[in-house]
Amino acid sequence: MWYNNIMDRNLVDMLGYGVDTFSFEDAVEYIMSHHGQIVTINPEMIEYANKNSDLKKVINNAEMVVPDGIGVQIGLKILGHNVKRVPGVDLGKELLKRANYQKKSVAFIGAKPEVVKKAVNNIKSELADLNVVYSHDGYFENNLEIFNELKSCSPDLVLVALGSPKQEFFISELKSLLPDSVMIGLGGSFDVWAGAVKRAPVIYQKLGLEWLYRTITEPKRFKRIFPALPIFALKVFKERLLNK
Ligand code: UDP
Repeated sequence: MWYNNIMDRNLVDMLGYGVDTFSFEDAVEYIMSHHGQIVTINPEMIEYANKNSDLKKVINNAEMVVPDGIGVQIGLKILGHNVKRVPGVDLGKELLKRANYQKKSVAFIGAKPEVVKKAVNNIKSELADLNVVYSHDGYFENNLEIFNELKSCSPDLVLVALGSPKQEFFISELKSLLPDSVMIGLGGSFDVWAGAVKRAPVIYQKLGLEWLYRTITEPKRFKRIFPALPIFALKVFKERLLNK
């Protein structure tokens, strides 16, 4: 298996996917001195990629893959790696803080028009000097138009919240046009920043039960998440047994 920048990273293999085992703080430091695609991986994405080799390639060609959720954290633990999760929504926010501090330019792509607008406004009211050079909702027909607009403003940090796997494919195509930028797929984070979706209370986050809260508050997620989780868990146990 070939992973990107392997010498420089802190990678372990999980079911054929390279996952970086940085702490949250080290992940931020690493990103600040690198560029490329960051994938926030979870069991659903892995199960999808197992059936879609293009997505698997995109993940394994990314410059960084962080364990977004508790599912991947537990999977890594079963395989003998003690790693804390790096939630995309928190990582995205920290990168925005750094961009604000270092006067780097930022682009937001994704979510419904009113959601991305509200998310950008809320972030700007918190990070007054943030240089937002581009924002666009996530419901467009033509990637090329957005790519051209992004290329012309050449942001240092590109946040893409189109859901998976759309955002992963979008970023992997964009990579060659913005070779010096950091690009991260952030799922439903703009909805959280806009206040359209509530983040789970801290106690759920601490107990690693954010998925449970989100499933209770958005029952339609259950159908999406549920089949992937037991299959993922079985595969992880199988891999552990085989590697003993
Ligand atoms: N979305 C989008 N364009 C699309 C489909 C989805 O911008 O064509 C947005 C959607 O509005 C939401 C996000 O992508 O803001 C996906 O959120 P979800 O919670 O489904 O993603 P997850 O975090 O589970 O990957």
